[in-house]
Amino acid sequence: MEKNIFEKIISKELPADIVYEDDISIAFKDINPQAPIHILIIPKKRIEMPEQITNDDEVVVGHLFYVAKLIAEKLNIKNGYRLVMNNGESAGQSVFHIHLHFLSGRKLSWPPG
Ligand code: AMP
Repeated sequence: MEKNIFEKIISKELPADIVYEDDISIAFKDINPQAPIHILIIPKKRIEMPEQITNDDEVVVGHLFYVAKLIAEKLNIKNGYRLVMNNGESAGQSVFHIHLHFLSGRKLSWPPG
């Protein structure tokens, strides 16, 4: 199966501004940031969409949220952040390898557009 763009970042075939990495996940700056701090936290395991998450993935997916907390500590973020995962094109998903958006550094409105 051909690697998707995020798998090429995992394998370092494509460059990225990596802010965190461990055996399960990698986090890097979004190339088109929607906030002063916009980081993508992704599993190294290929899961194309949130709707494809299985029971076996619970630890992996939960780990992404733990990494978000570690990143917030590392960047000394005190004023809040938003975590978003889009499922499907109508929800705004454009890369089909699940990723948690970590957004911070400005006031974020609600509801999202
Ligand atoms: P989504 O639209 O939820 O699937 O989010 C995909 C995100 O990946 C978008 O915010 C893009 O800006 C970002 N993106 C796409 N290609 C790259 C890349 N090579 N490096 C970093 N971020 C990327």
